[in-house]
Amino acid sequence: MDNFASPQPVLEAIGLTKTFRVRPDRIGAKPRYVHAVSNVSLRLSPGATLGIVGESGCGKSTAARLIMQLLDRDEGAILIDGEETANGRAALRAYRRDVQMVFQDSSASLNPRLTIEASIMFAPMVHGVSRDEARVRAHELLGKVGLDPARFAGRYPHELSGGQRQRVNIARALALRPRVVVLDEAVSALDKSVEAQVLNLLQDLRAEYGLSYIFISHDLAVIRHISDEVLVMYLGQVIERGPVADIFDAPFHPYTRALLASMPSHDPAARTLSPPITGDPPSPIDLPPGCRFAPRCPQAADVCRARMPELLLKDTHAAACHLNDPRSGHPVFEEKAA
Ligand code: SF4
Repeated sequence: MDNFASPQPVLEAIGLTKTFRVRPDRIGAKPRYVHAVSNVSLRLSPGATLGIVGESGCGKSTAARLIMQLLDRDEGAILIDGEETANGRAALRAYRRDVQMVFQDSSASLNPRLTIEASIMFAPMVHGVSRDEARVRAHELLGKVGLDPARFAGRYPHELSGGQRQRVNIARALALRPRVVVLDEAVSALDKSVEAQVLNLLQDLRAEYGLSYIFISHDLAVIRHISDEVLVMYLGQVIERGPVADIFDAPFHPYTRALLASMPSHDPAARTLSPPITGDPPSPIDLPPGCRFAPRCPQAADVCRARMPELLLKDTHAAACHLNDPRSGHPVFEEKAA
């Protein structure tokens, strides 16, 4: 599916940027900022799943909260069906009908004092659906996520397993009949067999309800399994994006290549003993000039430390690396020309 060439994405984010002020450690100290998300753009096609992957701390969860408008952005815009979302409570209410989120922690997301049925009914009733209709909807959704309403509707969250609670969270996210669901590490806390069942369930629901997903995970195997398009983040920036096959079979950015090299292999001959990425990421408070991956990149050159590479699109695959631009001045091109 060619997400990036799609003329009308269901959801689009342009240039999302978010910094957090760090509490000064002494009176009169200069303010410092964590650069959590820098100029992140994405397009989500109707019916597609866009995977967002990166190490912990890369900004993917902050990006999800910006997309959900749970956090105010410093800069950028969010569009639904090509229309920029407006400010104000009524606009946010309408947005929340269209875009819902499932979090990682299945128990923290559910009110322990509400039955499963009441949890699912809550949002539709707030949005004006009658109690009877909300109950019918809750029972229908419980059935769709594989939980028999006759057995589960009256139970409380502590009476369910982690996998069952996450199914309830998915049902709750669908209760307002959204078009987009943002799933933030939604299967990461589940054991592998339950994870596979929930992933299959998500794919079935996507087809049945015509949903589009933004699926955030640190797990490359999960991202590969579920995504049509992938966006790779490093230190708050998108450093590569493209169709899932391009990213996994022909990664371009040195960071994406290192991430993929760190994937566990079932083939003992293919296992590497040396760590694919050395060193820790730089602090998001004191970012290096130029390319943010330069301190860890084996191909870093002077131009990388001096100038930030742009996310350059070639066909449907884009990478932010001077090696992607023959005019960048990276010495690799001079060597080739010599
Ligand atoms: Fe490495 Fe330079 Fe590319 Fe950054 S721009 S990823 S430092 S080669």
